[in-house]
Amino acid sequence: MALDLVLLGPPGSGKGTQAAGLTDKYRIPQIATGDILRAQVEAGTPQGQRVRSYLDRGELVPDQLVVDIIRHRLSEPDTEAGFILDGFPRTVTQAQALDAMLAELQRPLDAVLYLQVDRQSLLDRLGQRHRQDDRPEIADHRIDVFLDQTAPLIGYYPELVAAAIDDIIRPLVGAGGGPNTRPTAS
Ligand code: AMP
Repeated sequence: MALDLVLLGPPGSGKGTQAAGLTDKYRIPQIATGDILRAQVEAGTPQGQRVRSYLDRGELVPDQLVVDIIRHRLSEPDTEAGFILDGFPRTVTQAQALDAMLAELQRPLDAVLYLQVDRQSLLDRLGQRHRQDDRPEIADHRIDVFLDQTAPLIGYYPELVAAAIDDIIRPLVGAGGGPNTRPTAS
């Protein structure tokens, strides 16, 4: 059965690290729009130069651009066993486009994993990296962009996020589900 996951979290929350771990464990590809966009910048095409202007400022690139990237990537055969989306969707518009694509493919998302990290820890972690857009003022702006444009997705995906939490909690309280079913020490 395919395992289709979304990793949601602010810059510096460790999405890339978690995605790499899941890729190793479950043998499904990590799809990181940030990596794909940086490769476009490296390629130096006119499109890459346009993308660079957004990345350098810590702004999101236009929705249509990343939606097209994802549509193309999900048509590749290695995603048949599943995928981990790392850094997409980042706006409600992107989430709606993803829903439409997955409905067409008849494969709904299995879970949305939200990595919550406080702002100071994010800034500390981004300060240890050496990416152009990790400079303090840009990093700070990227966290604001996350809070403004991406955090609303936590509300967009309430059932999937809740389902994931439930999967973690259920084994802790025993098969019956409720806390009262937990065996008591006597
Ligand atoms: P990341 O590597 O995920 O931190 O992304 C680096 C940068 O790429 C972001 O600051 C945005 O400029 C751009 N980016 C990555 N993913 C998206 C996306 N889904 N939508 C819009 N812009 C994106």
